[in-house]
Amino acid sequence: QESTPYYFTDAAVARALIRPRLKFSHKGTFGHALLIAGSYGKMGAALLAGSACLRSGVGLLTAHVPRCGYSIVQTYMPEAMTQVDPHEEIITALPALEPYSVVGMGPGLGKDPQTLRVLEALIAQAQVPLVLDADALNLLAENPALLQKLPQGTILTPHPKEFQRLAGDAAHDYERLALARRFARKYQVVLCLKGGHTAVVFPDGTVHFNATGNAGMATGGTGDVLTGVLTALLAQKYPAEQAAQLGVYQHGAAGDRAAEQRTQTALIASDVVENLGW
Ligand code: AMP
Ligand code: MG
Repeated sequence: QESTPYYFTDAAVARALIRPRLKFSHKGTFGHALLIAGSYGKMGAALLAGSACLRSGVGLLTAHVPRCGYSIVQTYMPEAMTQVDPHEEIITALPALEPYSVVGMGPGLGKDPQTLRVLEALIAQAQVPLVLDADALNLLAENPALLQKLPQGTILTPHPKEFQRLAGDAAHDYERLALARRFARKYQVVLCLKGGHTAVVFPDGTVHFNATGNAGMATGGTGDVLTGVLTALLAQKYPAEQAAQLGVYQHGAAGDRAAEQRTQTALIASDVVENLGW
């Protein structure tokens, strides 16, 4: 007999997950994240994810971007290092993965077949957890065999449409949740099913509804911010379940502070980045 699988991540639950930064820690303590994001005309997605990652406690960040993104990244986020793809407009090559403790991929990528090859190579080679979002999920849906090979501790962050492409149709929210529980168990991943109350689904099938966030966040780029937050928490060696629970909570809480400052109507994704931290 299974006990009820539903939980609620409120302030007390989230606060208990936070690990303090110890006095004698150094940047190596907090991991080196690789973010693979952006394409011509969508470099903003890479900037939002990257700046959110930097604001979420990562030790070092390297952004792998198309050539056209080089000075954009170096100018907007001087804290990040930049790895340039051989291609001018899209991602076509996977950098060597040895230095990195986590890889986040997806925001602003586009869906070129060459980028799918990069995702395939990443999944084949990675020995660290991944955060896959946005077009990385859409590319994954084009080659579902990859789902069987995702590294341990991987987090997927689909919005409802992306989840439908990955897992198929659901007639209503409850059916979608049941589908998500089966999916997380089958592929042993952590799923963040994004929406008004984002549901974080663990590989054991338990569902953790998030308490924070507001309708002001229904605007372009807020999902990219979440990718950066989660990538930073995995870099710091939070287990995937806790990274997802805490990251989704903090992302929503930052959105709530931003809405208080500016109203829900005026909120834009970079306001969420500005309000990260607690
Ligand atoms: P994306 O669709 O990838 O840009 O992600 C949107 C982000 O904003 C997710 O983290 C959602 O949970 C959040 N979001 C969107 N709409 C709402 C809403 N009505 N209430 C709370 N959070 C929302
Ligand atoms: Mg998105």
